[in-house]
Amino acid sequence: MIYLDNASTTKMFDECAEIHKEFSCNQFFNPSALSGGALQVSKLIADAEKYVLSRLGASEGNILFTGCATESNNLAIRGSLRSGNWEYVFSAGEHPSVFNLAKKLEQEDFVVHFVPLAKNGQVDLECLSNVLNERTRLISIMHVSNETGVINDLQKISALKKTKCPRAILHVDGVQGFLKIPFALRDTAIDLYSFSGHKFHAPKGIAGLYVKNKGGLKELFEGGGQQFGLRSGTENVSGIMQMRKAIELIDEKANFERTKEIKRLFNETLLSAGARTFGEGVSVEKCILINDYCGSPYIETLIFQGVKGETMLHALDAVGVVVGLGSACSSKKAGNRVLEEIGLEKETIVSSARISFNAYMSNDEVITGAQIISKVFQDILQRVS
Ligand code: PLP
Repeated sequence: MIYLDNASTTKMFDECAEIHKEFSCNQFFNPSALSGGALQVSKLIADAEKYVLSRLGASEGNILFTGCATESNNLAIRGSLRSGNWEYVFSAGEHPSVFNLAKKLEQEDFVVHFVPLAKNGQVDLECLSNVLNERTRLISIMHVSNETGVINDLQKISALKKTKCPRAILHVDGVQGFLKIPFALRDTAIDLYSFSGHKFHAPKGIAGLYVKNKGGLKELFEGGGQQFGLRSGTENVSGIMQMRKAIELIDEKANFERTKEIKRLFNETLLSAGARTFGEGVSVEKCILINDYCGSPYIETLIFQGVKGETMLHALDAVGVVVGLGSACSSKKAGNRVLEEIGLEKETIVSSARISFNAYMSNDEVITGAQIISKVFQDILQRVS
């Protein structure tokens, strides 16, 4: 199998499986209990928290360990709501775990603003600037788009927050950014940052939320008061330790450079194998261009002019190449809100598929994947024309 759907989820590191066994079968204590073993486990969680903070480049704050980034995003946003004359600002390109929640808040009569995306896929900073004011309570903008791979400029967004609404809380959904795009929280004005283990080779079911000031957040549910009372429930000790291990194994700067090389090799192979067939109308070149302009090397959108992305996905699956169709959480729904938002035509969107890499792929895998995609596309085109 050649797996090109890493934005959806990644293969877990083997090392995590060993940790799972250790913390499920040997050190399986409840960290809130009082035995020596429990205290030891509780200390290991505190160490893991410190380690994650250091890898986020944070000079203050805490980590709340959650079950998934959907939960982290809900906790960040719902936990920041306050009664009164406040406004809540979201980008129109957010993942459903933020976007659908923002829509719900609108129905619940909160004042919600959606800031459009610019044509390059980033949040439109001029529109953002116009919408921010002293009543802004929360700004929630993603780090890297799970659909297009476009990276938002966190420093410019931070600067806008500082000048236009210094009291506001800045939440960033960092699921496609953490350990992929080198950056440090201390260089930004981010208050809350969500991430998810299964996007970086840790298991599913463990994620986190960075919280700069825990006094500013409210819990989503009542319980035993674990994790500063903000996320009650027995901690997923094995998950936390496995996520720590995965983070330790990742060198984000080296991986960033390697993935840039993978993307370059992939696109070069793809274009040399079938450039013109991809290249008509709104072309794959144009999509690659969007991605290269301000994009993550881990993600790109391909347009298979004349063939449905879904048809490509199934045809490729049948020959062992796995690609995606945008957000796995919404891929069963028609259309693609984010690609529409950046101005792609409906027919173009229907022909799109998402390719996403990991840094550990071999050159052979990358080249073979691109060649198979090109061949399958041309075969289908011939059949339909
Ligand atoms: N945010 C972004 C940008 C994502 O890409 C995803 C998953 O695709 C999520 C949030 C949700 O993550 P999880 O699967 O951990 O709930």
